[in-house]
This record gives sequence, structure tokens and C-alpha cells, in this order.
Amino acid sequence: MKLIFETGQEGRRCTILPNLSVPEYILENDLQRKQELMLPCVSETEVSRHYTALSNRVHGVNNGFYPLGSCTMKYNPRINDEAAGLPGFTNIHPMQPEHTAEGCLEVLKEAEELLCEITGMNAMTFQPAAGAHGEFTGLLLMHAYHTKRNDSKRTRILVPDSAHGTNPASAAMVGYTIVNIPSTEHGLVDLEALKAALTPEVAGLMLTNPNTLGLFDKNILEITRLVHEAGGLNYYDGANLNAIIGRARPGDMGFDIVHLNLHKTFSTPHGGGGPGSGPVGCKEFLSGYLPGHRVKRENGNHFQLPSDESIGRVKMFEGNFLVVVRALTYLLTIGKEGAADISGTAVLNANYMMKKLADTFTVAYPGICMHEFVLSLENVKEEHHVSALDFAKAMQDYGMHPPTMYFPMIVHEALMLEPTETESKETIDYAVLVMKELYTAAEKDPQKLKDAPFSQPVRRLDEVAAARKPVLTYDFTQV
Ligand SMILES: *Cc1c(COP(=O)(O)O)cnc(C)c1O
Repeated sequence: MKLIFETGQEGRRCTILPNLSVPEYILENDLQRKQELMLPCVSETEVSRHYTALSNRVHGVNNGFYPLGSCTMKYNPRINDEAAGLPGFTNIHPMQPEHTAEGCLEVLKEAEELLCEITGMNAMTFQPAAGAHGEFTGLLLMHAYHTKRNDSKRTRILVPDSAHGTNPASAAMVGYTIVNIPSTEHGLVDLEALKAALTPEVAGLMLTNPNTLGLFDKNILEITRLVHEAGGLNYYDGANLNAIIGRARPGDMGFDIVHLNLHKTFSTPHGGGGPGSGPVGCKEFLSGYLPGHRVKRENGNHFQLPSDESIGRVKMFEGNFLVVVRALTYLLTIGKEGAADISGTAVLNANYMMKKLADTFTVAYPGICMHEFVLSLENVKEEHHVSALDFAKAMQDYGMHPPTMYFPMIVHEALMLEPTETESKETIDYAVLVMKELYTAAEKDPQKLKDAPFSQPVRRLDEVAAARKPVLTYDFTQV
């Protein structure tokens, strides 16, 4: 496919921009650009065809099944975008007087209240722009809490080996040393290992529950109690709340801080589809450390200046505000009853799919799963030299996005699947059929999987070269 710069003809143009509604202003001579600006010279037809062609080369939730485990690629309802496009939300400026943006403050306040109710927290900030950014912010709260108490020896964060990779990375960015906590053979936190690691140097624990193996840790109350008794705080990675929303709350499990990914559980676009939002909630005793403004309801809505103890801002203004509008629209659409339906259906779909695959594939942790499950293709690799990667590539030829691969790291040749609640039984049945067919193909014709994909814009890419020698610039002299 050609770049847009390689399309069109010198002098060709289209006028899809609105007329100027303010007086034209000519910059002073020395501020003007010295060289011609390189712009594509294309007609409206060419622009339209170019971007339509581009959109056809990616796979999104509107194209087909997207069982990317841990990422919760659920359908993003159109009504969210309708709400986010309302002029009252788009025609505003963050510096305008707050009494002229009351509705926007109401969105922030209402979203905060609902999400605090869902998580069992008391206060929330919407500044962080992603899950990992939320982790970083949450750990800064933890750090501020210990510092305030003059407890400066706490330099360690405990992270289970099933954790999302961002957890140890965020802890390292805050300057903490990471202590790895192994999982038991059943995929849960090893309590003895946890006890042994709980020294006076521990600032806190980061945990995902259910974890990335799709398992709910039944010892959760004991885990959080042990950490508290050792003087640490409990951080809940709530990027993916799909298994527990409307049913269980991190706050009730003993967690002090939680981040959410609005771009996963709360149905806002991600994976190239839009900016993220990783709000951080905390219990009351930590709320003074939160970054940015808080909205206070008192004869209308007002901004409250950050307290002196605040960790300071982590992003400008109120973060990605229109993402919050989308998530609030979703929450108001589903209502209280709908929240429990989400988790119920998400868990049902995952168990249905896992059970259907279990007679052919090796399920890494058999039993009942939560919103996702992990397969191990180790035996297929050993017997037929077909890897999880080969398998994932072959699935693309059947109109589906591959599952998450090689994660969590404690499972060899892992494929991690999360169907989400927005998929139908037919879609899941078709995916199961395809995966079983591919399993047979791996036994009979392994080369077919090794050569896949056949139907995509590009075949197998050299992933090592793409990571080590990325070509990110375009040479205009070639046009
Ligand atoms: C997705 C995810 C994250 C990171 O979120 P980003 O928005 O990609 O930074 C962290 N933890 C878990 C468990 C996740 O699934």
C-alpha cells in the first residue's frame, strides 16, 4: 500500500476544512516558514480511499473476535461516543472559569462516586493516562504515606510472579526494589513465601485478583492482613475488573489503593483506538496525597486545590477527560444490576470456551476460571515443533485476533484467552472449532502453521529486526 505522500498529483487538493471563523492573521516575516511545507496533494476521493484502505488493514473489535487475554477487548458501545461528542464536552477549555463548566465537573464527580462504589475506595483521581501510569501514581501515594510517617527504610515492593509486567516496571520507576513472590502449583500466592518476604523493608504488595492466570486467590483476606501487619500497604491492579465488577470490591478485600483501566473494563477504545485512562482510587487516609484537583459538591460543583501533601500532578488538568465521559456513559447505561451481569457473563463465556477446548488442549490450571484462562502448547511444541506463536499467526487467517502469547511467563508456550461478555455463543463456538482444526493441522501438516498467516497484508515479520532496527522515518527525497 502506498503512503499518502506517494498518492495524488502536484497541485491537487480538496477543501474539507470549514471556512475561517476568525480574522486571518499573517505572521511576521521572521516567524514565517522558509521552506515549502511537505503536504500530500490529494483529492477528497483519494483521502477517503486512503484512510478506508488503512482501516481495512487492522483488526479491531468491530472486525471480529478479539480474545486478547488481560486486555479485555470488549465491544465499545456507540452511545459512549455520542455522549463524548456533545458540544458541552468538546467546546470547552480547561482554563475557563469553573462555573461555566459545571457539567464537566459533575461528570468527574459522578464518575468518581460510582467507581469508588464499585471498588470500595473513598477518593479517586482521573489524571493518569493509562494503567501503568496509574500504577506509578498509586505507588507514589504509597511512598508519600511512608515518607510522611518518617518510615524511610521501606524500599521493597512485593510482586507475585504471575503479575502483569507493568507492575515490577512501575515499582522500579518509583525507585523500589522488587521482590518476586512465587505462585503455588495451583497458581495462587505462596503464603509461606509471602510471610518470609514480609520484612520491615517492605513498603507494600501489588496484586491482581483474579490474577493473570484467571484465578481468584481464596486467601486474599489473609494476604492483605499479613501485609498490613508488617506495616505495608496493599495495591490492587484493577486494570481488568471484568470478573468481579458488581460482585466483589478490592476495598473489601483489604486493598488501600487501586487503579482501573477505563479502556478495558469500562468499554472505552484502546489498542490504537484512542487514549487511555487509568484512574487511581484510594482509602480516605491516603486521599490527601492524590494528584490534581478534587471536585467538591457544595452549592454546585467546585474544584478544590490539591492539599499540601499531594504528590503533585502526573498529567495536565483532569487527564483524558472525554474518556471519562465515555466510561460514565457506560456506567449509567448498564446501571447497578448490569454491573453484575457483566462479570457473570464474562466468567460464563470464559468457562464455556475453556471447557470446550479442554478435550483437545492442555489447560494450564484446570478447574473453574474467572474472566480468562491460559492454555499451554508445550506438548504441541515438543511433538510437532509448532509453537504458540505459529498457532496465534494461523488464527489470523480465520478472521480473529490472536490470544495473548507467552504470558504469564510461568506457563510455557502460553496462550491466554479472554472472550469477554460481549461475544455471542456462536462466535465462541466458531473460535473453538477453528482452534481444534488448527490443532489437527499442527499434527498433520505443521508447516501450514509455520507459514501462516496467508491472508494478512504482511506475512511473518522479522520481529527481532522490527524491535532492534525499527525504520521510523520516511525519506521525502524519494517521492
Ligand atoms: C493492561 C494491564 C495493565 C497496563 O495497562 P496499560 O493501560 O496498558 O498501561 C496493567 N495490569 C494489568 C493486569 C493489565 O491487564
